[in-house]
Amino acid sequence: MSPRLTCTRIVVDRTAQLFEVYWADKHTCRFPLDGLKRACPCADCQGHEKMHLLPDPALFKVPALMKWTKVRAELAGSVGVRLIWDDGHSSGIYTWERLRAMCTCD
Ligand SMILES: [Zn+2]
Ligand SMILES: [Zn+2]
Repeated sequence: MSPRLTCTRIVVDRTAQLFEVYWADKHTCRFPLDGLKRACPCADCQGHEKMHLLPDPALFKVPALMKWTKVRAELAGSVGVRLIWDDGHSSGIYTWERLRAMCTCD
């Protein structure tokens, strides 16, 4: 696995409402939690045809409508991370490839 796709640490910062992914190539991605929820890659949220496409980057620019206070992250094997949202939704697996591809900071 390339350093670009090797995650070294994940942080759910509920105060700042950010999900941070630290990569082995020293890059850190910060995603607004609300945008990440809207971009949930599961079939329920995106539909079967669209779940494999990358979300519109504009999703991350929309002001947050919701403050997520109980969201937590857990590893989904070695492929990525699962987020368990306040509303109990947890079917989306955000793969490392997808997270890195959604990055708008590099
Ligand atoms: Zn990034
Ligand atoms: Zn979903």
